Amino acid sequence: MNPLQRRGLLSAAGFLGAAGAARAAGFGNPDRPAEGAINARLASSKSEPGPNNPALASQFPDFQDPPATDVNGMPLFWASFNNAHKRIQDGGWAREVNQDDFAISEDISGVNMRLSAGGIRELHWHQQAEWAFMLTGNCRITTLDEEGRPSVEDVQAGDLWYFPPGLPHSLQGLGPDGAEFVLAFDNGRSSEFNTLLLTDWMAHTPPEVLAKNFGVPADAFRTIPVDNLWIFQGEVPKDLAGDRRDARVVPGAQQVIYRLSAASPQRQTRGGSVRIADSRHFPISKTVAAALETISPGGLREMHWHPNADEWAMVLKGQARVTVFNTGPKAVTADFKPGDVWYIKKSLGHYVENTGSDEFQVISVYKSERFAEVSLSDWLTHLPPDMVRRTLNLDPSVIARFPTGRPDFLPV
Ligand code: MN
Ligand code: MN
Repeated sequence: MNPLQRRGLLSAAGFLGAAGAARAAGFGNPDRPAEGAINARLASSKSEPGPNNPALASQFPDFQDPPATDVNGMPLFWASFNNAHKRIQDGGWAREVNQDDFAISEDISGVNMRLSAGGIRELHWHQQAEWAFMLTGNCRITTLDEEGRPSVEDVQAGDLWYFPPGLPHSLQGLGPDGAEFVLAFDNGRSSEFNTLLLTDWMAHTPPEVLAKNFGVPADAFRTIPVDNLWIFQGEVPKDLAGDRRDARVVPGAQQVIYRLSAASPQRQTRGGSVRIADSRHFPISKTVAAALETISPGGLREMHWHPNADEWAMVLKGQARVTVFNTGPKAVTADFKPGDVWYIKKSLGHYVENTGSDEFQVISVYKSERFAEVSLSDWLTHLPPDMVRRTLNLDPSVIARFPTGRPDFLPV
């Protein structure tokens, strides 16, 4: 049932006042200011006779017809990889959602990348940390730590990697069908199209300096690329043990990968489950905490907020709606599907409601060494009940039925 139908039923039942007239301010329809279709008496107050694109408009039921509890004036917190420019080269592609196009996304820049089997994201580094979640396939990653210790690892769907700021790395798709993953940089201004590339540095260093630096004649570098490669097609690499041996890997480097999907959920109810990976579980990941959440059909990720960091999230499966609450009061509701991204500022209240008939899944990241959250029902059940009763004008027997102990996902 869509919100309009639901509201129609509620008003037919007299729940929100007399039908046919502008609805009086009340529960579900606050009046400062009175917003939402429920307050419009004439059909022409709600119709949209001007130009529109039905295919696109149909993706956003809560923008087209916001709940009467929404109040306009919040910055857009919806973005998507689905309409991001895709840079395609032989060997793979990438697209990104960063602060250039998504103003609210101050702390995190998101990248979605595909590498074919053998496809190489060329040797590079950047000023930001790089966190990643594998979506499909298999990928080989290499890096070097500050002590000069190399790592060569293979990752698959559901795995994470983390490269601290400035440490050099490479990525390569493996068989049978390469890899696709999502990256998060811990700075909203970062770009995958503006990284420090090995080929660029070599081509822009005087040949006599290359000769001195590497102890070989300058002429030996005559064949290096003069333009960067960024992504290019290579050969599927040999077995992991062989590559580790050739890269002179010795034990001792900190683990740069974490198998998030294979970890046990920290929380599981009938409504859903969450797997968290922050520096307590994945010690190298000092600037990015992550949560992989699954919400059952009909389930709700409870009303909560994060006291320590903004939330950046990418939908993996299913569909959901999210409302963000801010001072003012202001509130905005948006709808999300796979490949869409949301961004919620630190401490702003929100929930996630599965609006589809299938499981909903989302991966979220926070620029912090740890995941932290405040649950609304947890707070309200850990106060003197009289305080809650007097504030919300609720019968104590109602408050006594609130879930305790941070349910995370409803139903419990
Ligand atoms: Mn990188
Ligand atoms: Mn959240």
